[in-house]
Amino acid sequence: MAERVHITTAIFYCNAPPHVGSAYEALAADAFARSRRRRLGRANVSFLTGTDEHGDKIRRAAQAEGVPPREFTDRTSAVFRRAWDGLNVAYDYFVRTTDPEHEKFVQQMLERSHARGDIYFKDYEGLYCIGCERFYTEKELLPGGICPSHNRPVERISEGNYFLRIDKYRAQVLEHIQRNPDFIRPERYRNEALNMLAEPLGDLCISRPKSRLEWGIELPFDHNYVTYVWYDAFWAYVSAPASRDPNFISEVFATTEHFIGKDILKTHAVYWPPMLLSAGLPLFRHLDVHGWVNFGGQRMSKSSGNVADPVSYEAAFGPDVLRYFLLREVVYGLDGDFSEQRLIERYNADLANDLGNFTSRVLSMAARYFGGELTCDPVLEGEPDDAALADVMSGLEERVDAQVQELAFNRGLEAIWQALDVANKYIVQTAPFTLAKDQAKLPRVAQILANLTESLRVVAAALEPFMPVTSRRILDLLQVDETAAAAPYGRGLKQGHKVKPATPLFPRIDRKAG
Ligand SMILES: [Zn+2]
Repeated sequence: MAERVHITTAIFYCNAPPHVGSAYEALAADAFARSRRRRLGRANVSFLTGTDEHGDKIRRAAQAEGVPPREFTDRTSAVFRRAWDGLNVAYDYFVRTTDPEHEKFVQQMLERSHARGDIYFKDYEGLYCIGCERFYTEKELLPGGICPSHNRPVERISEGNYFLRIDKYRAQVLEHIQRNPDFIRPERYRNEALNMLAEPLGDLCISRPKSRLEWGIELPFDHNYVTYVWYDAFWAYVSAPASRDPNFISEVFATTEHFIGKDILKTHAVYWPPMLLSAGLPLFRHLDVHGWVNFGGQRMSKSSGNVADPVSYEAAFGPDVLRYFLLREVVYGLDGDFSEQRLIERYNADLANDLGNFTSRVLSMAARYFGGELTCDPVLEGEPDDAALADVMSGLEERVDAQVQELAFNRGLEAIWQALDVANKYIVQTAPFTLAKDQAKLPRVAQILANLTESLRVVAAALEPFMPVTSRRILDLLQVDETAAAAPYGRGLKQGHKVKPATPLFPRIDRKAG
């Protein structure tokens, strides 16, 4: 059976629009998914994203705007969807936790755990603010037990709720992480998870009484309660594909790659595996944990007011530019920094110079000397310069893919830029523009241009997971379809093939960031 893979971003809580940090996660997961599709075929890859729409925070955000919660999330969910579409995030599923299909699935999973005896009812006592309509831990309160939002004392109240047994599965989850060293990656997060699981965790409260919150999915075994938003949202990773493919849970779910931020490591390492095991599902393959994208050294967040709108950058600088910058600049797993100045520097150096100039030089020379027609095949051996070029271009996509599978998106792009560097030097060393002045040397010029256009094809193909629009533009200039684009170096463009004249891909930006 063909290898399959299921890829997810976090299910974004849509009380605020996406920022560059949330876009980074969607872009990394998208590059991973595109790379897997190239290897495994489209039908064997499913890529899922979506919005988390229940819970008290959404209800209150809707109330503040004087609209029903559903109307509020219809609008805010659409903002995420438009952002991902604008950034060319090619998801197969966009799940909303308010979709009827999802709600029904969550109820099925609750029934499974309930039937197994993993859900029980008990009275819960805690510190509660009537204004906020929520429980607080002592640490969250101001001295003297004061609510930080309302500046008045909280009350100790007791409330009956349903709990899911987490500790029952702790040893099994711990053993799974120990046996599968890359289950949580990079390793620093695996170590953090092992520490979290070293002590008993306590069970997870998975309900809210309707008397307090109605905006949720009703428990199938008690109509006076809805599910806690966290429990509900996790199942968005599974609900839509499982509802449409009866074999998804048994055959595909265990291949899942969860792309998440480090702030939700605990919930994914500690609570999600017991939820799966209790409902009779296998565990996922990898938890792929990334750091923050900071803004001028500070964490990007709505409250700090430094939220950068990802789509505005895409609009201002053109397609693929934000994608390129984030995937090249941020090391997956570590914190990175976003700055418009740095983006402009990268744009001019890497995109305008290295990639854009290479593309236009190759196509301009092909047009000028041969009317855009290749008069010979590219060669792997030939002269030493030809062999050196063939050497770096051969297997480029495989080398890039190996890096992407290890989440080293930056190294994948570095490998492409190393190849571009060799190709740019090849132009300088072979000097076709000088040779072309001598009629007798035109056959050599033809050979150089055949090798260069073939190199441009290989570079464009390798770029697709990171820069899908640019890749397509270059392949269109080369008049190459999907099949020819995927051929190994030396077996793509043949004698007689015609390419189009150059059009500028990335005009230089001559300004400082505002
Ligand atoms: Zn309060």
